This record gives sequence, C-alpha cells and structure tokens, in this order.
Amino acid sequence: MSWLEKLVTPSARAPLEAIWAVCPACKAYVPREEWSAALRVCPRCNYHDRLTCRERIDLVTDAGSFQELNAKVSFADPLKFEDASGPYAAKAKGTVAKTGLGEAVITGTAKIDRMAVILGVMDFRFLGGSLGSGTGDRILLAAEEALRLRLPYILFSASGGARMHEGIVSLMQMARTCAAIARLQEVGLPYISVLTDPTTGGVSASYAMVGDLNLAEPKALIGFAGRRVIEQTIKQKLPDDFQTAEYVLEHGFIDHIVERKTMKAFLAKTLRYAGCRSLR
Ligand SMILES: [Zn+2]
Repeated sequence: MSWLEKLVTPSARAPLEAIWAVCPACKAYVPREEWSAALRVCPRCNYHDRLTCRERIDLVTDAGSFQELNAKVSFADPLKFEDASGPYAAKAKGTVAKTGLGEAVITGTAKIDRMAVILGVMDFRFLGGSLGSGTGDRILLAAEEALRLRLPYILFSASGGARMHEGIVSLMQMARTCAAIARLQEVGLPYISVLTDPTTGGVSASYAMVGDLNLAEPKALIGFAGRRVIEQTIKQKLPDDFQTAEYVLEHGFIDHIVERKTMKAFLAKTLRYAGCRSLR
C-alpha cells in the first residue's frame, strides 16, 4: 500500500468515490457528473463501462415503452450443484435479492423511435451474465414472441459464458437459443445482436454471433476462451488489442462498432432499412 493510500482512510475514501469515477480500463479519474453525462463512457480512452439492463433499456428505447415478458422465468438447479463457496441455489437467490433481477437477461416488448421490437438485455451483475437454463428460456420465449408478433428481435449481450453450475443443461442453451433465432431468420424477421463488454464463452459462441447484424460497443471484450488459456495453448504472445471489439471487427467477426451515444439512432435507422415503420 502506498503512503498516499495509507493516508486516505476508508471513511475518507467514500466521499472521493462520490465525486470521482475511475475508468476501469485506463484508470483515469473523471468527475462523477461528467462520467454520468457521458453515459459512463471514458472521455480519455473511450471505454464503454458496463450498464445495468435497466440503464441500457432506458438508453435505447422510447420512454416508458418497455413491457417485460416472462419475468417469472428464473434459474433452475438441476444438478443441486455446490462448490467451495456454497450451494448454487443459495448464491442465485442472493443475486436475485441483491439485483432485483430474476435472471441474467431481461426481455420484453419495446419501441425504438416508435417502431415495435422484441428486446433482450443481459446484465453482468447476475452471476457474471452467465447463460443458464432460465436465461436460455427467456431468450427463446422472446424469440417465439417475435415470431408470433412478426417483430424484429434485438439482443444485447454481456456475459462470461455458460453457467457451469448447471453443467450440460447450460450448454444446451446455446443450441436452443440459436434454433429459436434461426426460425426468425427463416421467415425474414431481423435479428440484431449487440455485443457489449464482456461477451465471451458460450454466449459469444452462440446467439451473440448469429445476428443478421452483429454490432459491438467500442473496446468491448469479445472472445471465446481467455487470453491466458490461448497463450498457453499456442505458446505465443497475443497482440495487446486481442479480443477487443476493434480487433474482432478487423478480423471479420462482427459487422460494425457503434458508440453508445448513437446506438438508439443506429438501431432505428437499421430497423427502417429492414422495412419497419414507426407507429403513431
Ligand atoms: Zn478510460
């Protein structure tokens, strides 16, 4: 601990955190007001900080238009899984109480520039945005609703990957969600995937990458296995920008990078291009 840190007691640190935000990427101190006004985008390095699903919904939809679907669909514990930190069921219930979310994704109907859509938004606070059976159910049911109502489907991902507490059941969600999305694509309904920081593992290997359009926020971590695992496997040093949105765009994995402040306008323009019309 540095002499400065020793000087700053925990009680003195709290007001500092209220005044300053620290960019998780470049560690710059940004006045909290400026940080919020910039939608939690770092003015120095353009890192797009993680948002809660509610913040994201507010940002991309018309005010008050979001109506949640399947809010009661929640996690399952088919393996009665328990690890050194305790039972999975208890951990998940604690997360529900802490975040007020029933699962790692929230889905519903919404309007973007008065165009009706089905929207799904993942939240990293719920067990690292992991893909469990409840997450898969919600994503699949939202796709079925899009099919029934003939609406475009937009899904924002933020996930560490499959929820290993549910073993093979979590991996099955990769196929289930992709199959549901394929049904939309068969009838020509647009599916737009937006990858936010981070989108990795089983999510990047399934529904996050099968969009008619795969978008990402700047600097988002996008990949499958972690950097260290790959470096150890191929016995090579990887480039510094490996697994960033910019790197995967350059290598053809995604279609476009969209700044947070223009995301809603970009989605609206895309929907219009896909033939959607604004309702009165
Ligand atoms: Zn920064």
